[in-house]
Amino acid sequence: MREFEIIESIRTANAALGTTVVIPPGDDLGMIEIADGVSVLSGVDQLVGGVHLAADAPAEDHGRKVVNRSLSDVAAMAAVPVGFILSATLPRELMTNEGWAERFADAAREASSRFDAPVFGGDVATHGRTGGVFVASATVLAVPDPHAGGRVVLRGGAQVGDIVCVSGCFGGSLRPDGRGHHLDFLPRVEFALELHRTLGTRLHSMIDVSDGLAADAAHIGRESSVSVVLRAEDVPRRGSSTAVQALTDGEDYELCFTVSPDGSLPEALSGVPITPIGIIESGDGMRITDEGVALELERDGWEHSG
Ligand SMILES: [Mg+2]
Repeated sequence: MREFEIIESIRTANAALGTTVVIPPGDDLGMIEIADGVSVLSGVDQLVGGVHLAADAPAEDHGRKVVNRSLSDVAAMAAVPVGFILSATLPRELMTNEGWAERFADAAREASSRFDAPVFGGDVATHGRTGGVFVASATVLAVPDPHAGGRVVLRGGAQVGDIVCVSGCFGGSLRPDGRGHHLDFLPRVEFALELHRTLGTRLHSMIDVSDGLAADAAHIGRESSVSVVLRAEDVPRRGSSTAVQALTDGEDYELCFTVSPDGSLPEALSGVPITPIGIIESGDGMRITDEGVALELERDGWEHSG
C-alpha cells in the first residue's frame, strides 16, 4: 500500500468517528473530549531495538529516546505534556541483564520529568527467549495550552502566502557509529509553546521532523491542500551535511511550521534559531529549488504528486 492510500483509508475510517473526537488520526497527536469542554491529546510512539537505534545501545538511550520522540509530537501541536504510560517487551538476555530494565525506566522517567510529565503507568513483558527484539512504546497525554487560548496547531492549517520556517538545523542526525543528535536531542516543547504564545493565530500549521524535512513538509502541504515551495540553500545544516542530506536524513526532531506573512518573525525563541526556508503557494505537491535551480530528490519518504 502506498502512503497516500494509507492516508485515504484513515480518512475514510475517520468519517465514522463520534463527535467527541476533536482531532482524528492523521496528525501528530489525536484529541478527544473527555468531559464538557475538556479535551486531552494523546499519541503513541514505538521504539524498536535495531531499527530506531542500535540494538546494543545503552539502556539509557532506549529510555530517553522513546519518551523524547513522543514529546516531539507534543511540541508539534504546541501542546503541554502531562504524563506518560510506558510499555516494553524485552528479550530474555535483557531481562536477565542486571539493572538493564531499571536503567531504561530511570532514563525514561528522567526525560519525562524534564517537562513535568510523569510516567504514571505501564507494563513490562518478555519474549521469554533469547535473541528477540526489544520494543518499547510511550503513550503520551497532553493538554491544549491555556496560555494560547486552548488552541492547538495542526498540520492542516497552512494558507497560501504563509512563510515556511524551521527550528534548529538538519541532516546528519545519525552518525556512522550509530550515535548522534537522534539520541540526545531536546524535544522542542518549550520552544513550541513560546512560538505559539508569541505568534498566536499567525502560527497556521506545524509538524515535527522525524521522517526527513522534505517528507514532513510535504505532509503539511497535503493536509492543508496547498503547495510547499522550499529553498534548499536556506535550510540550516548540521555539521558537514549536504543540502540533500538536510532535506532527507530525518530524525532531526525539529519543527517545521508555517506563519502568516503579516507581522514580524522572531529570529530565535527559547535559544532556538528560527529560519524561513520557503513559502506556501496554491496548488498541491512540493517544489524544491537550490539557488533557483529545481532540485529533484530521489530518496523514498515522500511522494511526488505532480
Ligand atoms: Mg510527529
